[in-house]
Amino acid sequence: MKIERVGIVGAGTMGNGIAQACAVAGLTAVMMDVNPAALERGKATIASSLDRLVKKDKLTAVDRDAALARVETTGELAGLAQCDLVIEAATENEALKLTILKDLDRLLPPSVVIATNTSSISITRLAAATARPDRFVGMHFFNPVPLMALVELIRGLATSEETLATVRALAERLGKTPIVVRNSPGFVVNRILCPMINEAIFCLQEGLASAEEIDTGMKLGCNHPIGPLALADMIGLDVMLAVMEVFYTGFNDPKYRPAPLLKELVAAGHLGRKTGRGIYSYA
Ligand code: NAD
Repeated sequence: MKIERVGIVGAGTMGNGIAQACAVAGLTAVMMDVNPAALERGKATIASSLDRLVKKDKLTAVDRDAALARVETTGELAGLAQCDLVIEAATENEALKLTILKDLDRLLPPSVVIATNTSSISITRLAAATARPDRFVGMHFFNPVPLMALVELIRGLATSEETLATVRALAERLGKTPIVVRNSPGFVVNRILCPMINEAIFCLQEGLASAEEIDTGMKLGCNHPIGPLALADMIGLDVMLAVMEVFYTGFNDPKYRPAPLLKELVAAGHLGRKTGRGIYSYA
């Protein structure tokens, strides 16, 4: 099926980024959100992000206007009925996603592929909520979507080759590089990244080196653009802890146990940049 009209459920951080990437690539992006303020914020975020691209000479003013005109919004799932493919990017809550997916499944013609941008919930389990597990797939974008080149395509147990080909072509049309991953907690990138950050927190806790020295070590020794501890503060220590708990329980393997210092910082409300204090202080 030719994909021209993409529905996006959720107009938050990820939803509006995905909508922008679609619109810039010439597709019509229909953003759906239950919160009218989120739809307005989402559209305003896209407008200011496109403005920045024009200022940097990466987009012409004409193309910006054309892209913005291709972003539509709706407060109802029914507003996505005419879409050729729908990407679910609502809040990370399994019960909420299951409800949305069941409703979408009833609404959309059986041939339409449904993708989810979840970062931690099993694709196979979400697919089972629909009557089209073969036309269900994970499309895990990275934040900020307009700038990040990777999309992880996650095949659930029943995802068909045809579905995978459809989302691969879509990812490439958005200018992204897809990698194909089997369904498993954290998929591939977070499976490697988060335990690495957790290990850096263990190093700090054991007093092997200061936070600054650990970050300098990984920046200069491994050519990472940012140290793991600074990155943890950017991601949010609560998010980091939640991901490690998913690995710990999902694999039932002690190698994924969250660092006690990570738990302490979260218990203290030191969640990183967003609270002004995490591993580092941002006063
Ligand atoms: P967000 O909180 O910024 O946005 C979520 C949006 O979903 C909100 O605007 C909310 O109003 C909306 N929403 C809630 N219930 C809804 C419903 N029933 N119907 C329609 N919309 C509804 O969250 P986000 O960071 O954009 O994350 C969205 C998804 O993307 C999550 O599954 C998350 O795990 C995943 N993800 C996030 C990141 C990241 O770095 N933020 C990266 C990759 C994947």
